[in-house]
Amino acid sequence: MEQQTPSPATFWSLSGLLRDIPVPEKYRPGLLKKQIDTVSSMVFVLLFANLLNLAVVLQSFRQSEAGSLLAIWGFCIIFITGLAALRHIRIRRASIHGRLAQAHVDAMSRAALIIGLFWAAAPLLVMRLADVQAQMVLAIVLTGMMFAGSFLLSRLPGAALSLMTPIGVGLGLSMLLQEGAAYQLLTVLIAVYLGVLFFAVRWSHRLFVEQHLSEAAVQDQTQVIGLLLRDFGQSTSDWLWQTNADGLLEEIPLVFDTGCEPAGFMRTGALLSSMFEPCEGRKELEAALRRLEGFQDIVLKVEDGAGEMCWVSLTGKPIFEGHEFRGFRGVAADITKSKQIEDRMARMAHYDSLTGLPNRVSMQVHLEKVMRRPHAPDKVRALLWLDLDNFKWVNDTLGHPAGDELLRQVSLRLSSMAGTADMVARPGGDEFAMIVERPAGGALEEFFGQLTEAMRAPYDIWGSTAHCSASFGVRVFDAYTSDPCEVLKHADLALYDAKRTGKAQWCMFTQKMEASARARVQVEAELERAIDNDELRVFFQPLVDARSHSIVGVESLLRWRHPVRGLVFPDEFIGLAEDYGLITRMGEWVIRAALAQAARLPDHVNVAVNISPLQFHSATLMATIVNALAANNIAPSRLELEITESVLMTDTEFTLRRLHQIKDLGVRISLDDFGTGYSSLSYLRAFPFDKIKIDQSFVKDIDSCPESRAIAVATLTLARSLGMRCTAEGVETLYQADFLRDHGCDELQGFFISRAQPLDNLAHLVEVRPADDLPRAVVAMPEVSSDANVLAFTSEKRA
Ligand code: C2E
Ligand code: MG
Ligand code: MG
Repeated sequence: MEQQTPSPATFWSLSGLLRDIPVPEKYRPGLLKKQIDTVSSMVFVLLFANLLNLAVVLQSFRQSEAGSLLAIWGFCIIFITGLAALRHIRIRRASIHGRLAQAHVDAMSRAALIIGLFWAAAPLLVMRLADVQAQMVLAIVLTGMMFAGSFLLSRLPGAALSLMTPIGVGLGLSMLLQEGAAYQLLTVLIAVYLGVLFFAVRWSHRLFVEQHLSEAAVQDQTQVIGLLLRDFGQSTSDWLWQTNADGLLEEIPLVFDTGCEPAGFMRTGALLSSMFEPCEGRKELEAALRRLEGFQDIVLKVEDGAGEMCWVSLTGKPIFEGHEFRGFRGVAADITKSKQIEDRMARMAHYDSLTGLPNRVSMQVHLEKVMRRPHAPDKVRALLWLDLDNFKWVNDTLGHPAGDELLRQVSLRLSSMAGTADMVARPGGDEFAMIVERPAGGALEEFFGQLTEAMRAPYDIWGSTAHCSASFGVRVFDAYTSDPCEVLKHADLALYDAKRTGKAQWCMFTQKMEASARARVQVEAELERAIDNDELRVFFQPLVDARSHSIVGVESLLRWRHPVRGLVFPDEFIGLAEDYGLITRMGEWVIRAALAQAARLPDHVNVAVNISPLQFHSATLMATIVNALAANNIAPSRLELEITESVLMTDTEFTLRRLHQIKDLGVRISLDDFGTGYSSLSYLRAFPFDKIKIDQSFVKDIDSCPESRAIAVATLTLARSLGMRCTAEGVETLYQADFLRDHGCDELQGFFISRAQPLDNLAHLVEVRPADDLPRAVVAMPEVSSDANVLAFTSEKRA
């Protein structure tokens, strides 16, 4: 608190007189104003009393010889009183503050002093000349003036002392100048009166200042609280509330103007707890009110005054006076907006924005709930994990908005198939999940059949027809599994199997799937090590001329010499290597290994290498080929790359460019497994393959199946008319060999000639040079590190 700074003390200065009452600077103007106001209201009374006293004195001394002297004196007093009255009238109209206020106080003190001095002069002038009666009147008037004046002016102690001191001194002196012990005694008495009055004024003023200071402090606090409350009211949509001991809402007995609008729903006299909608929060509130305990941020739903539902957060605490409970008091905050945002965010966190279906999180929560709930013995429940079969195709060909529309339609279709107790969710991408319950005894399987059929139906996407069936894995809940994560995993494994089996299939989870999944995971880890641990081997299967049966080439076929499982065939790991992203590394190893081995074969024997679609698109394929050919001094025309139709299904522009790059290099390209893949033959027109390989599935049944014979013959005719060579794979019998030869097949490959073997084992069919007799690399082609170098090399070669 700021303390009063001592100013040069004048006799009537407040600080001089009351140095020991510290008045903070900020309260001084208020105090001064209050002093002035109090005294101002008394000024006319004082002046009138002054004139009355003057009249009484003049009347008493009318007959005495001092009469004329007193008349002049009286005139002076009237004049001064008149001046003081006029000045006061003038000042009263003006607003007095700051230095003006202090000047006014000083002026009042000065006026009091002048009036006091005049009244002090009277006894000194006339006391000796007056008779006892007049002396008595004068003494009484002056004493009265001392007391009444100091009492009325006590709020301005300077003025009070200025008035009473001269009067007291004048009266005392005049008594002292009289003869007689009684007068001396009166002088002493007057001195005592003066002393008493001095302390009375001082005491009274002290009380006045203290009262003022405490009032000012209270007012300060009130203002601060009021400001805080107003701020609170303006910056938030909160309300204060209070109940009586019976829980009924009361008017808030606050003296402050909070600026808060009372809440529409807070009706005085209403039972607080009954205003809110029944919910968990209301129960919590009722419990707190019952136990007379404070509560914080209880979220409640209530109808506002306008009939709208809104959310409030209620905080309150009990009020006790002594030990007596008086009710509750607290704050209600309108949280409708934040609750709406919260609800929207919760919805976003739990629902898929595209389809409006529950997302993965909600689905898992629901799954947990369902699994905890005991189910009737005549019911079966299952989790279905669905995946769309051709979604990528729709997305790629019709565009992403069409893909979104398809997902929406799928969600509607699934929802229409679901029963009331079932749940449909979209965990993400083109995956959907269903939790279904059906009566035991085949209804579940029947539903799966219906669902598969329904999902097979085409979709109308803004006028375009999209075929997008779904495959799904099923995990039926049983009494042994209580872990939702396990159930999810099992459904996913079942889906994996359904996808493997073909499109638009469903597959029920069996324990065997888990074992093979475990094996798959193990294979992944082992496969990574296989390349580094030198566990891969290239076997070679001969291709012979269909007429002479002399060897014209070999196809390299990868084998994995597993330390425990022995020789593992590519069907078991090529797909996994593709899934795990290992195929490119593995395929490059095959190219290098196959060409290194091919260097041991005579120049007229070609070597074929299988290239998987991912490897075909890899950025390092061309460099690997060129480097391997150069390193082993093999003419590019001896190398044949075998690609399947699936290579041609993606990014045709790039595929064609790459096919031409390979061809420009002088390397040949064969179309492997012809007839098993993509049905369009347009790619045969777009690119001149060197060779078509009839898939072994058609060759196998040539003996017994006329359709297979027809396909084989048609393929041979097609190849011939397109000017391409034709190799038949999987030839196992002489009949097959003869049939194919008779219908124009150029080359034969199959167990009839030889299985795939390590190169050394083919020595009975072809001359195989020993491994250590390999010619050192003669640089026929430059060492290249990127496809760009390869391009430069091929264009140079063309030139
Ligand atoms: P493919 O390229 O069509 O190879 C022919 C497959 O048929 C080989 O199986 C071969 O052993 C088998 N086969 C050959 N003649 C007969 C026969 O008379 N009867 C029967 N039943 N089968 C015969 P393999 O070696 O198991 O290879 C399977 C597939 O794995 C290959 O089919 C090829 O697609 C892939 N593959 C093999 N090696 C590689 C490789 O190095 N890279 C890539 N990307 N794929 C490879
Ligand atoms: Mg092949
Ligand atoms: Mg093949």
